Amino acid sequence: MSLRDFLRQMEKEKEVLHVKDALSTSFEIPFVMKKFDKEGPVLLFEKVKGYDTKAIANVCGTRRRICAGLGIGQEGLYQTLTEAWGSPKKPKTVGDGPVKEVVERADLSRFPFLTHFEKDAAPYITSAVVYAKSVDGKVENVSVHRLEVLDKNHLAIRLVPRHLFKLWQMAKEAGKDLDVSMSIGVHPAVLLAASSPVPFGVCEFDVANALIGNGLRVVECEHVNACAPAEAELVLEGRISASKEVVEGPFVDITGTYDVQRRQPVVDVVGVMRRRDFVYEGLLPSGAEHRLLMGLPHEVLIWESVSKVVPKVCAVNLSVGGSGWLHAVISVEKQVDGDGKNVLLAAFAAHPSLKHAVVVDSDIDVFDPCDVEWAIATRFQAGEDLVVVKNVRGSTLDSSADQETGLTTKMGVDATRPFTKPKEKFERAKIPAGRNVETAVRRLRGL
Ligand code: MN
Repeated sequence: MSLRDFLRQMEKEKEVLHVKDALSTSFEIPFVMKKFDKEGPVLLFEKVKGYDTKAIANVCGTRRRICAGLGIGQEGLYQTLTEAWGSPKKPKTVGDGPVKEVVERADLSRFPFLTHFEKDAAPYITSAVVYAKSVDGKVENVSVHRLEVLDKNHLAIRLVPRHLFKLWQMAKEAGKDLDVSMSIGVHPAVLLAASSPVPFGVCEFDVANALIGNGLRVVECEHVNACAPAEAELVLEGRISASKEVVEGPFVDITGTYDVQRRQPVVDVVGVMRRRDFVYEGLLPSGAEHRLLMGLPHEVLIWESVSKVVPKVCAVNLSVGGSGWLHAVISVEKQVDGDGKNVLLAAFAAHPSLKHAVVVDSDIDVFDPCDVEWAIATRFQAGEDLVVVKNVRGSTLDSSADQETGLTTKMGVDATRPFTKPKEKFERAKIPAGRNVETAVRRLRGL
């Protein structure tokens, strides 16, 4: 399954907005992406100034679309993800695929890479899934990394000390550069799998393949020792240098603030495979899609962890205002007073970057900030229900954390109804008007 298959489905569901004006890759396209970020449609930029290529953005911009990509309803999302994490399936390797329609030498100046924010150092590739395997071939890994475009055949790659970083170190110790494929324009399942916290040793392509019922095909690359999705739009083939580094950034991360500059490795881009009429996929840093892809898998971790302390977890939301990373709202059915605080502790343990968490009862919509605020207003007593933990390791993305030690203060808010007070005091008043009036209201709204 490919990004194109998904786009056809989204066209049918009227989820694609066609942008007809010719816009520039420098700020203009990102500006439109930002304007349509909130629960916005897929954006198809039909004319990109200076390039023949179309660009697409905000593909995974809503929960609904991500679920549609997996062919499931929202209620089944966490279950589906945990099942795929636990039972990865190797995708079939095929000899040829649409991504090999054109095989050519690297010339990055020909692709419409986007410059997003005012102080960004350069154009950045933000939607690429990077595949690499260990020198002995035993470990394969796929993950998402930002790539700064340095010139016609060089990129800088941000390597957080996780799996790809480890593979790069292993290659360095063997005195080798690390071959990678960088695939742009892949099915949402591949992006979601590449963002998933599966252990070192599990190949995220296998997770993606499990997520879409054995629907992924991969091909061997033409210029490097790596594989890539056979139906990707564009694949850059390269080697992460064992010796060359540059100062990477400035660049905007998930909170919408500028990340610090660091020395990071250089990727020598040695070849390109692409579809003849490839579409370039953009992804707005700090936008909805960034928050969802990074946050969703961690909602699953919180859900699993909290499920161990209360019998029913109704919903988890790493909320938009918390950049999809630092704030969680969790709704549960608690059994006794005190459960709420255990929920908070379990959430902090499951997602170490989490800074503020709110636990609410099952009648509160965790996706509605007003509803959550109402629960805090009517069910929460700071003297009783507040958990504050000082000097904990938090997220490096939290600008207010101690910049040297990375330590932060975490706050948990138990906004569940206390069982010690009369239930009636907390009941939400309803108007029992019936179906008749609902129809009348719909007519008034012109629906
Ligand atoms: Mn991994």
